[in-house]
Amino acid sequence: MIAETIKNSARILSGASIAEAIKREVAEEIKNLSFRPGLTVVRVGEDAASAIYVGNKVKTSAELGINSEHRHLPAETSEEELLQIVDELNERDDIDGILVQLPLPKHINESRILEQINPKKDVDGFHPVNVGRLSQGTPALAPCTPAGVIEILKRSAIEIAGAHAVIVGRSNIVGKPMAMLLLQENATVTICHSRTKNLAEITSQADILVAAVGRPGFVRGEHIKAGATVVDVGINNVSDADFAGELFDETEIEKRLKTIEKRGFTLVGDVNPREAKDKAANFTPVPGGIGLLTVAMLMKNTVDAAKMRRKTE
Ligand code: NDP
Repeated sequence: MIAETIKNSARILSGASIAEAIKREVAEEIKNLSFRPGLTVVRVGEDAASAIYVGNKVKTSAELGINSEHRHLPAETSEEELLQIVDELNERDDIDGILVQLPLPKHINESRILEQINPKKDVDGFHPVNVGRLSQGTPALAPCTPAGVIEILKRSAIEIAGAHAVIVGRSNIVGKPMAMLLLQENATVTICHSRTKNLAEITSQADILVAAVGRPGFVRGEHIKAGATVVDVGINNVSDADFAGELFDETEIEKRLKTIEKRGFTLVGDVNPREAKDKAANFTPVPGGIGLLTVAMLMKNTVDAAKMRRKTE
């Protein structure tokens, strides 16, 4: 089942079941290959969130039959040293995907590192060559999070062609590639950002509203058209119990407060879920939504990169 219906409120689009389906398909594809795809994830320093993300990526790769390596480098690694490691990985024939986990320590120029990755091995889809191909609409390794959004929409039978899609956020990682992918699917696309005037007026015209703002609960009822599909890309930590009370209804608040008590925070998206559920027809939860798709799409990109580079298709 890909979605569950809650009485008098939005259909919650489950990322879990869709991510599992994609991972099953990837595992099946790997079984039919004459080689095992290889992925190296490079992490520099001790960012706590990065450690969790990288752990998930490496664990999932192993589960699906991808040879995965985790290169954890000290925070003081120089830009030159990191460039050299990327070069070595570019040269290795057993490595199909290279992912340098962001953010990097301040003394390292992220663009310089990302541009050093062989575009054929760029499973994050951040290399300018892949960004260019994406904007030209030619086959490319697309960034995993926006690619995951497209999958969740398609597999939930939400019509993209002809829909007015509004994206709040214009980052290179989420907002811009999201716009390109939605355009490729024939949506009419509007991109909003921090300088957008009359934001609610624009977002409330959206059939599909994608929030990638980096502010917990930022998108509220007034931003949402009745019956819209709201995709929440945001991942934020909320530790304030009163604020959590504004975001979650009686079906969820108790669980959230327990999480704050236990862990010190609860994960919250960029949309106010209480208000979105009342207004939208479809809504992706946090956690359990787009975040799960990101890792699944990385696995898919790794297999696609392997097949393209080794020319098995
Ligand atoms: P960035 O901080 O890079 O970008 C945020 C965007 O939101 C910017 O374009 C900014 O505009 C815009 N913005 C900020 N404030 C406002 C405002 N008041 N009104 C309108 N627009 C505003 O974030 P990312 O794109 O990297 O990430 C966005 C969210 O997605 C975060 O919560 C992040 O944690 C999450 N994320 C989740 C992933 C997943 O796997 N689910 C993966 C990657 C990110 P401007 O450009 O003008 O500054």
